[in-house]
Amino acid sequence: MSLPKTWSGGYTLGVRVVTGSNPVAPTISQRHSKVKSPSRNPQDYSWAREKMVREQLLEQGIKDPRVVEAMRKVPRHLFVETALADRAYDDGPLPIGDKQTISQPYMAGLMTEALQLTGKEKVLEIGTGSGYQTAVLAELSGNVFSVEKIRSLATRAREILDALRYYNVAIHVGDGTLGWNEHAPFDAVLVTAGSPTLPQPLIDQLALGGRLVIPLGDEQGQVLRRVRRTGSGLEEEELGDCRFVKLVGRYGWPDA
Ligand code: SAH
Repeated sequence: MSLPKTWSGGYTLGVRVVTGSNPVAPTISQRHSKVKSPSRNPQDYSWAREKMVREQLLEQGIKDPRVVEAMRKVPRHLFVETALADRAYDDGPLPIGDKQTISQPYMAGLMTEALQLTGKEKVLEIGTGSGYQTAVLAELSGNVFSVEKIRSLATRAREILDALRYYNVAIHVGDGTLGWNEHAPFDAVLVTAGSPTLPQPLIDQLALGGRLVIPLGDEQGQVLRRVRRTGSGLEEEELGDCRFVKLVGRYGWPDA
């Protein structure tokens, strides 16, 4: 299935939280959304965001100009609680509720860059969380299919993404270690939680030439890895150390 990046035809699949046959919290109209519309004032946090781009992305080695532009544009402060908005552009992760975190800006940039997106890709994201990374991916690809296991986070992310008009994003509540077979194969797969091993379904749902980026390791720390499917098999690269919350699911960590 291929969905246009901007939908003029109103609200359908792409703007709902999809849960198989049981959709939750569909957004009927932006007018009814509980999320405040983003400020029309372009000065809002733009200075903090520009500083983040310069000091945390460019100076730390993020090179892909499209990634830099996307992160210069996406209003990260809207994806965290209002009380934390002033810290949204700081160099670190922040809590987003349910013991989960929004990744540090640099890590979001590094992971996105590693996916080598050109604008047309079908992307699978595991761990929607706040929806911030989802928005960055939506800026850089054709369509994003994002899976989140915690319903309240998925619903909240959906509302913010709707308010910001990211209509090329579909969100599913469920175990992302199973992927989203209905929409496979994917040109790029990003896992934003740490896993002990490579979840086989995510490999199976990767297109030829596709890239999977995933933190692999134990609870204390992981190594960010890129797996590429080539004609002759899988190629793996290490991209550096990282620390993420646990990927909990059938092909990840068991539920505690
Ligand atoms: N990318 C997010 C950060 C997410 S933190 C952001 O920008 O905010 C990791 C997320 O992965 C959490 O929301 C957690 O609930 C989710 N998660 C953990 N295991 C999962 C699984 N098996 N399937 C889907 N989501 C999962």
